[in-house]
Amino acid sequence: MTQKLYDNDSHQTETTAVVRACVPAKDGFEILLDRTVLFPEGGGQPSDTGTIGGARVLHCREEGGEVYHLVDRALSEGEEVAVLLDWSRRFDFMQQHTGEHLLSFAFYKLFSAANVGFHLALDYATIDFDRPLDHTQILEAEALANTYVWRNLPVTAAFYETEEDVRDLPLRKHAEGLTAPIRIVSIEDADMCTCCAPHCKLTGEIGSIFVLDAISYKGGTRITFLCGERALKHFRAAHDSLDTLARRFSTARESVVSAVAKLGDDYGALKRRERELERELNRYIAAELVESAQTAGKLRLIVRLFSGFEADRLKDLAQSVAEGKTLAVLFSENDGKLNYVLACGDAFPVELSGLVQAVNTATNGKGGGRGTLAQGMAKSAAGAADTVEQLKDYLIRRLRQA
Ligand SMILES: [Zn+2]
Repeated sequence: MTQKLYDNDSHQTETTAVVRACVPAKDGFEILLDRTVLFPEGGGQPSDTGTIGGARVLHCREEGGEVYHLVDRALSEGEEVAVLLDWSRRFDFMQQHTGEHLLSFAFYKLFSAANVGFHLALDYATIDFDRPLDHTQILEAEALANTYVWRNLPVTAAFYETEEDVRDLPLRKHAEGLTAPIRIVSIEDADMCTCCAPHCKLTGEIGSIFVLDAISYKGGTRITFLCGERALKHFRAAHDSLDTLARRFSTARESVVSAVAKLGDDYGALKRRERELERELNRYIAAELVESAQTAGKLRLIVRLFSGFEADRLKDLAQSVAEGKTLAVLFSENDGKLNYVLACGDAFPVELSGLVQAVNTATNGKGGGRGTLAQGMAKSAAGAADTVEQLKDYLIRRLRQA
């Protein structure tokens, strides 16, 4: 059976060991050693990585009390090798994992909320609690957990031979179906639970615990949290973003929120003013369009190409000038696309559905309508000016025959 040095010393980063077996595996070779400092995945904590005899350790797993190390090249059985742990990766996991114990303890102590799921990855860590928790409760638990961090309490692990031996311990969590010996991880004056993973030796190593997000999850709450260096990196990035915003607004960091709120309010007021001005301008444009209407037999025709008019504005304009026996056919180029609207008065004798088909064909667009209004859009406005001129000639001829 592999001697698991990490069980008793989570800070041991290297050892020498003897290769007991080397077996070809799917993505390399699986190595058995007489002892190891590399923790296989378990208790929610991912596998360690490192090197064994210079070979890269990609993953470790435990089976039947043995630790199988997946490495990228073969090693000789019987050889004595150096086993080196990737400490920065391990320490990061230990910071998050030990922080998880304290957070879970704080939520349990304050609100009887039980941890029912823990996920730890390279870029996130979450805990699922079995009940809804509101923002105030989360802040309270976060604050309590941090007081245990700052007291720099010892974290210890002990083994018990039977279930009987652990029955009377004040455990927060007791994993089901454990095989002896049962490993109990204790934080002095705080948490005690079954766990197989390596943890920080002192809670001060966690640095700080910060709850980033909370969402409702399966009737309970899933929180995302950061500890140690992850928390520092997060605050550095957030702080730098805030600084950038503060400079952009020529204000202090503390005033960014109100500066952004003011910008939003100002923008809303400007949009309202813009719509008012648009309506006002539309009245002048409409008057000019009516003035420029061409006669086609007994009917009148207005055709015009605009630029940058939204579809709604184009529709309002077309409807405001289409009276009696007048047909208005208005186009607008917008972001490379071509919008068009056909509007006519009540006394206009030609069906718009037929006319809009002609526009669709000429512009390679799609559109339809009936009664006194039809609308459409072409994906490309290329050559729109020529197309509109040709359509105007066609419509004049067509309306003369009506
Ligand atoms: Zn643990």
